[in-house]
Amino acid sequence: KLRTEGLRKSFGDLEVLKGLDLEVAEGEVVVIIGPSGSGKSTFLRCMNLLEEVNGGRVIIDDHDLTDPSQNINKIRENIGMVFQQFNLFPHLSVRENIMMAPKQLRNVSDKEAEELTMRLLKSVGMEDKIDAYPNSLSRGQKQRIAIARALAMDPDIMLFDEPTSALDPEMVGEVLEVMQNLAEEGMTMVVVTHEMGFAREMADRIIFMDEGHIVERGTPEQIFDHPKNERTKDFLEKVL
Ligand code: ATP
Ligand code: MG
Repeated sequence: KLRTEGLRKSFGDLEVLKGLDLEVAEGEVVVIIGPSGSGKSTFLRCMNLLEEVNGGRVIIDDHDLTDPSQNINKIRENIGMVFQQFNLFPHLSVRENIMMAPKQLRNVSDKEAEELTMRLLKSVGMEDKIDAYPNSLSRGQKQRIAIARALAMDPDIMLFDEPTSALDPEMVGEVLEVMQNLAEEGMTMVVVTHEMGFAREMADRIIFMDEGHIVERGTPEQIFDHPKNERTKDFLEKVL
């Protein structure tokens, strides 16, 4: 489904990703963990080419995104992304935030749009907020709307970059629950998170990154209970 081969990325002289190979199968949940600055966000942003890559390939469903002849915008429509900051449009209602992209990019009637919006809002437990504006919502609610908005494009893959780290503790659970439901419905997901409980419970595989390398990968049991690499052990001792 999603594959990176020898992915490299530099910012000026600083090489941030040093040849990353990763395969994410359909329906798989892969959680990326690692210290600050190890390149997790950059890796995620390279997966849909929000960052230009300096080497290697990103392949989604047999389309090589790094091939200049590919219609990258078209492929990107199949990849939903949720960030730490929710970046909803403040001047648009929840309904308009969710429906803007599908209305522009897909041929949906008003009726279809309304049904889709309601279905998505139900799935994130926010159907009563359809006419609200982002400023009237809590951070947890905003993030759930951001997830609904990403889902409105009917993506095949969802990328999450620390979706709960800007939330107050009491709101973390409601967002993780939405993500858990998505995972259980079979969504293919790549998640960067510091929520080790979520990682242990929901991940099919854990990737541990350090200094631009994938240092270790395995099932949650392998990584959390029997880490092999010293750097993985070090990191887990600090966060667990
Ligand atoms: P965190 O856990 O703090 O979010 P991270 O693992 O997501 O860290 P990245 O944000 O991918 O790490 O950053 C990896 C390295 O790349 C860091 O040294 C960072 O300073 C650098 N970096 C990231 N984005 C840029 C940029 N746009 N320009 C220059 N350097 C960058
Ligand atoms: Mg980051």
